[in-house]
Amino acid sequence: MTQSFHPPVRTLMGPGPSDVNPRILEAMSRPTIGHLDPMFVQMMDEMKGLLRYAFQTDYDLAMPVSAPGSAGMETCFVNLVEPGDKVIVCQNGVFGGRMKENVERCGATPVMVEDEWGRAVDVHKVEDALKANPDAKILAFVHAETSTGAMSDAKALAELARRHDCLTIVDTVTSLGGCELKVGEWGLDAVYSGTQKCLSCVPGLSPVTFSERALEVVKNRRHKVQSWFLDLNLVLGYWGSGGKRAYHHTAPVNTLYALHEALVLLQEEGIENAWTRHRKHHEALKAGFEAMGLNFVVPEGERLPQLNAVTIPEGVEDAAVRTRLLTEYNLEIGAGLGALAGKVWRVGLMGFACNRTNVLTCLGAMDAVLS
Ligand code: PLP
Repeated sequence: MTQSFHPPVRTLMGPGPSDVNPRILEAMSRPTIGHLDPMFVQMMDEMKGLLRYAFQTDYDLAMPVSAPGSAGMETCFVNLVEPGDKVIVCQNGVFGGRMKENVERCGATPVMVEDEWGRAVDVHKVEDALKANPDAKILAFVHAETSTGAMSDAKALAELARRHDCLTIVDTVTSLGGCELKVGEWGLDAVYSGTQKCLSCVPGLSPVTFSERALEVVKNRRHKVQSWFLDLNLVLGYWGSGGKRAYHHTAPVNTLYALHEALVLLQEEGIENAWTRHRKHHEALKAGFEAMGLNFVVPEGERLPQLNAVTIPEGVEDAAVRTRLLTEYNLEIGAGLGALAGKVWRVGLMGFACNRTNVLTCLGAMDAVLS
């Protein structure tokens, strides 16, 4: 007979999922109720308010897509991009490449602005691309590039886009809850995130928020959205404000309890305190890594506190180190991704996992394995 699955208790310091706060796991185990139950609907309304707080916006549309971060990405692209459109896509890592795929699959033309992996998006190059492509409809970029640990200047990029009458699609999967993100003040238009990074929630949901002007574009499309499941015109029949909620799909009830609890935790801590905590523990980890002779991939000033990519020292076997950390210390760190595979380790300090004990555990374990 196959036995029940009992996972080991790990310390998750990779690129996500991060350690889940036990309060969130407990919330998830509460009784399943109907996804149109009045009590559930009340919880959904609260969640929308909590998401607005997390995103720092007052946009009416703030909701979780019932699928992981990639589905949030697709929600933004399939709803805003139509065949024949031109979209400027910034790529400085893996996830900009995924945006390009999305644009192409919508039958639109991506104009790529490429930067070195490990650097922030170059605002000047983006300005040149906007000037050279006055017919571009959207500027898409990743705020926090998880594959390298680089943070781009979302505020400056959004300002540029507005000046050139473009909407923005912004990936905040790794930034939400971990570093400054002010969707409303910065005027970002279509923003998606994930639950499994700095919100410390279980994976599987993708919070999104849309500005009014982005929503107008969705409502006035020339073509039907090619994805039935992700078509906001339909999803908003369930998540939209006001009126009666109608069945669209069976919402992942218990996973939504988990997200609600994660957002309550963020509210309790205060978002600015959460950003400060990530910065503080990053500084400690950085000091330890530098003392061990490990070099950061991303230059200071463009670095994410929550994702620390360091170059694997010469002669050290990547997989052997990660295996020892996992088997001897129950510690997960991340491998390199895409062009950086085999060249870097990615050490996450995300959400609940971003604490003093984990910094010390990680430094102690890495020092032991590398010496
Ligand atoms: N965008 C970024 C920046 C990510 O880091 C990830 C996942 O790591 C995604 C998108 C995709 O999210 P998911 O794996 O939840 O589909």
